[in-house]
Amino acid sequence: MRILLVEDEERMAQALCEILRLEKYEVDCYRDGISGLDAVESDVYDVIILDVMLPGLDGFTIAKKARKQGIRTPILMLTAKGELDDKVTGLDSGADDYLTKPFMTKELLARLRALLRRGMNTPDGVLSFGDIQLDTNTFTLCCITNGQNVKLSEKEYRILEYLTANQGQVLTREQFAVKIWGFDSDAEYNNVEVYMSFTRKKLNFVGAKTEIKAVRGLGYELRCSDV
Ligand code: CA
Repeated sequence: MRILLVEDEERMAQALCEILRLEKYEVDCYRDGISGLDAVESDVYDVIILDVMLPGLDGFTIAKKARKQGIRTPILMLTAKGELDDKVTGLDSGADDYLTKPFMTKELLARLRALLRRGMNTPDGVLSFGDIQLDTNTFTLCCITNGQNVKLSEKEYRILEYLTANQGQVLTREQFAVKIWGFDSDAEYNNVEVYMSFTRKKLNFVGAKTEIKAVRGLGYELRCSDV
């Protein structure tokens, strides 16, 4: 799970990054509204934590712009104590939830988990496409026509999760690299191809008709010709 944090207060940002990484989330942090909006627009995050008062562009404006562009990633807005109107404005602007500073770590993590579940849109923990199903808890890939299943590695799972969440769209190698390995990772784009081929082998193994199609010069797309 990849989280975007936009927070200008240094100590707050550092503390939040530390907490989130301890919980095994991947975190990218931006310290101003302009670069924050850029990151939001990359649309590679599973949840976004937005501070309201930011240099450059405030959190409300970022949320509004994101929603206008059709970015549906859940947004948790951080507001300062006493800014009661912020709550209303935050929800109006397209944020899904808000949290008033100072807050307890436990509270933050609970809200994040709720938003992540909502973002996945999978109350039963299953993602589906064509003749395949992905179990979001056990990382198991199953072909529904023959009942064959296989366990996926974390990266293979992330690849299929990303593809099923963006059905009908071609996703670029760059998007995969950022989404799965992170902006500041040393992952070369070859990694994407290597893991793409592992993932295809798993699809073959379960006998799925669903395929990862390479779209020349563009990227990859999930297709199922025959179900
Ligand atoms: Ca701030």
